[in-house]
Order: sequence, then C-alpha cells, then structure tokens
Amino acid sequence: MDRKTAVSGQQITALVSAPRRVPRYRTAPCDAEMSPLVGDAAFRATVARSNNALIPANLALYLHMPFCESLCLHCTCHTELLSRRSTADRYAQAVIDEIEAKASLFDEDRRVTSLLVGGGTPLTIGLALLSQLIESVNAHFQMSDRPRPEMTIQVDSRISPVRDYDDLVRLGFSRAQMTVISEGRGTQQCINRKQPYEVVARHIATARECGFDEVDVVLRYGLPGEQPASLRLSLLKLIDMSPEAIRLVAEDYAPSAYPRQRLMPRALLPSASIQAESFLAMQQTLERAGYCYLGLDQFVLPGSAMH
Ligand code: SF4
Repeated sequence: MDRKTAVSGQQITALVSAPRRVPRYRTAPCDAEMSPLVGDAAFRATVARSNNALIPANLALYLHMPFCESLCLHCTCHTELLSRRSTADRYAQAVIDEIEAKASLFDEDRRVTSLLVGGGTPLTIGLALLSQLIESVNAHFQMSDRPRPEMTIQVDSRISPVRDYDDLVRLGFSRAQMTVISEGRGTQQCINRKQPYEVVARHIATARECGFDEVDVVLRYGLPGEQPASLRLSLLKLIDMSPEAIRLVAEDYAPSAYPRQRLMPRALLPSASIQAESFLAMQQTLERAGYCYLGLDQFVLPGSAMH
C-alpha cells in the first residue's frame, strides 16, 4: 500500500463533519454481502481463469472458524457460541473436505504465500483440530518454500492460554492478530467483553518469546459508553506493548444485519463526529509514538513486515 495515501486535511474535515457514521474498511466482503448466486460453478470458472493468466498469482488462503466462547454484542463476524465439541469436529471435517476438493483446481505451480486463520475465535476448536486443518492445507496445497508462507492466526487473549504459543509456532504460525476494545469498564460491560490489558500484554510478550515475528492489534472503537479519555489511555497502554501493527477499526452499527447489536445501549454510542475526532486524536498519538500511517485504518512500526 502506498504510504502516501494518508488522509489529507480536507478529507479529515469531511470525515469529522460527516452526517453519518463512517463505514468500516473491510479486507473481504462480510457474510451479509455473500450470495448463494456465487456457487461452485462460478468459483471453478474464476479459478480456471486465474490459472490461465500470463503469470498466475500466488495463493492466499483464509480459513474461517465461526465459533466463540462468548458473544460480544458489537460483533459483526459470522460466528456462534460453541456449545458442543461435536459441532467443532464436524465443522473441521467439512473444512478439510473443502480443502481437498478445492486444492486440486489450482495449477500445481501456484504456491501459497499466506494463510490466515480467523473467526470467530479460531482456538475455540482446540489445538488438535487446528493442527489437523493445517496438516490438510500442507498436504493438498503447494506451500511456498522461500519465502516461507506468512501464517497468521487471530488469538483472543481472554480464552487462549499463553502456553498455546509454542504449539502455534510448531504449526508454522509467525504472526498473531489480537482484537481489543477500550479498557473502560463501562464500554466492556456494554458489549459483554471483559478484557484486562495486563492479559493482552502477557500474550504479546509470550508470543514474541515463543518465536512469533509479529503481533498485530486491532483496536475497535466507536462503542457504547466509550470516553475519549479512556480510549486514549487504552491506546497509550497498547503502544507500550509495541505491537508491530495497530489497526483502528471503527465500529459498524447495523442492527438490521447484526441483531445482537440491538442489545447494546444505542443512546451511549458515540456520534459520527466524536468517532471521527477519536480517530484523528489516535492517529496523532500513534504517529508521535513512531508508528507510520499506511492509510485507511492501518499503522505500523518501521521495520515491520507491512512497512
Ligand atoms: S468480537 Fe471476536 S470474540 Fe467477540 S463475538 Fe466477535 S468474533 Fe467472537
């Protein structure tokens, strides 16, 4: 991404005075935008076209684990509570079947250079099932040798024990993504997500000790009960943990698409202009701390993989 895409003064003014909440940038279509009209035939045709390109692109895989141990009210991910182990077993088997069926469609010289396991909360399924999934990917896709594929996993510091990091490194993961919200107790209560920052700090330190190259943090903001002061304090604490990348992700409030958001106290949601001002204040704080703004919502430390 071009580092010079940082928002201009005019864009900032427009952002702050926007009459609506600013939409969130997404790296992939969300489930609300998925359509059954794009089925197997369309997928096969797209893969065949990409195989026939003059220089076929490398492959980036995403494995979605749609389970969590508790549900946060603001969440816009496709996920559900995992109440039975057998559900995780059946889901993992379905993903393995899908890997086997789809891998053979790609030409053999197409290498996987990146793999993201996200959710939901991927480790809800347990390390044993996760390990089977990674084995299946390794067995059916051609993984890049050099450089080795960038393997990223989303980790929830509230449910994963820190001892998992050794096993994750053994499976090939080198990058962790952690989502956090403001440490303000009011906000955490409003969305049913208790997440002490000392636990986040312990996870980041342990991931590094175990051999992870990068830990990225996603700070969700624009949540009910959020106070600019607690948001800033939370950001400063995160900066002290030195994650290689920090994303500032504005909350989507769309209760018609995500009914559980109706349980959040709507009156306590910050307005669009406060949300935009929060972003600008956090941008300044991050840049003063040495983070480079890549544009959109992404900040990175010099020397990190994305820099
Ligand atoms: S925010 Fe994360 S942990 Fe909370 S419900 Fe959504 S996916 Fe699960």
